[in-house]
Amino acid sequence: MDTAITSEDLEFDRSHIWHPYSSLTNPLKVYPVSRADGVYLHLQDGREIVDGMASWWCVQHGYNNARLNEAAIKQLNSVSHVMFGGIVHKPDIDLCKKLVQMLPESLECVVLADSGSIAIDVGMKMALQYFNATNRPSKNKFLTIEKGFHGDAFGALSVCDPNNSMHSLYGGFVPQNVFCKAPEVYFHNSDPNVEQLVEELDVAPFAKLVRENHQSLAGVVMESIVQGAGGLRIYHPHFLKRVRELCDEYDILLILDEIATGLGRTGKLFAFEHANIVPDIICLGKALTGGYLTLSATVSTREVSEGICRGLAGRLMHGQTYMGNPLACAVANENMAILIEGEWKDQVRRIEQQLFDELAPLAEHPNVAEVRILGAIGIVEVNKFPVRVEELQRRFVEAGAWIRPFNKWIYIYPIFTTTLEELRVLIEAIASVLDDL
Ligand SMILES: *Cc1c(COP(=O)(O)O)cnc(C)c1O
Repeated sequence: MDTAITSEDLEFDRSHIWHPYSSLTNPLKVYPVSRADGVYLHLQDGREIVDGMASWWCVQHGYNNARLNEAAIKQLNSVSHVMFGGIVHKPDIDLCKKLVQMLPESLECVVLADSGSIAIDVGMKMALQYFNATNRPSKNKFLTIEKGFHGDAFGALSVCDPNNSMHSLYGGFVPQNVFCKAPEVYFHNSDPNVEQLVEELDVAPFAKLVRENHQSLAGVVMESIVQGAGGLRIYHPHFLKRVRELCDEYDILLILDEIATGLGRTGKLFAFEHANIVPDIICLGKALTGGYLTLSATVSTREVSEGICRGLAGRLMHGQTYMGNPLACAVANENMAILIEGEWKDQVRRIEQQLFDELAPLAEHPNVAEVRILGAIGIVEVNKFPVRVEELQRRFVEAGAWIRPFNKWIYIYPIFTTTLEELRVLIEAIASVLDDL
């Protein structure tokens, strides 16, 4: 079978196929990939480049991973999909057992879905059904923070940063929620009175909105500690701790989006551990299958799930065609097994150390506003933007790196198995473009 991409294929792609956030009439350049192995993308022209994006934050243990391949092939040979209504299978049970084991004790009821956006929609539906079932139907809005990103389905979009995600484009169709300004105090702020600072700058405006709106608030939806695609910010854990307290005080469910941060990325298995709290509902996705297949999970407390079942409908009104897809669950189950073995802790710690040693000094460059680091996440915020994506990407590829910058961020999200030399390729690639933004 000839799998090479021809110039005619590329022409077809340009004129018929939408890429993410792209133009169909004036698309950015795309790079044909023929294979991926470990941390390397093999371009069709023969170049091998280190993936610094982990395929949009999904890959943990490398491409073409022998264990994940085997789990997928084994499952393919038994059943790749069967409906979840009235049927159960082993991969789904095995996966959910592991998730419940990995999460804090109180998070124990799992809804599987097929993408991160839908996991957020499910979490929001759960909160709405919960308050409906417990006779407080006026609690039907969500509070969130600006600069967030939660996905592109309309429910998820309604809690994304309204400017970044251009709510205005959708003619008033997006549900109206309550937005607080994004927390300002950085995770690594070294002020000796940092908690006081968080109280004044971040907690006070949030608490005010909670007090003013709690009668109509079903949930707070936000990313744990790291705000991803909406602003690449890393906030102080004290803020999250106080959000938890305010949710308890005013009877609001805390829905944490750990689709990007969960499963080891920030140096903890779940980012909420930095704040020593537990949400009522957590959304996981992206890295769940280690970058193989699309799958997400929304996990709630028993109280939330049982509350829903006491309501008028008596059940959760959500179910999708590919819910609990056995193939995706089998791969995710093996990926969770690798995580439970625990090697990720040293891998992420080592990557973080190298980012502090080699990426952080780029903050001295006149074109750099700030460098932010947590776990295996390194963000260079530049002060000349928006960056020229296509031009920078061409330079990165020439330097042996796959990095996709956007707006004012050149960031890396390395695969956990990236070696010292490979990570250096990524960091040097970033350093090499800073003079020419
Ligand atoms: C990617 C992402 C989502 C959406 O997930 P999809 O699988 O793209 O729908 C939601 N929240 C966060 C924090 C994300 O990074």
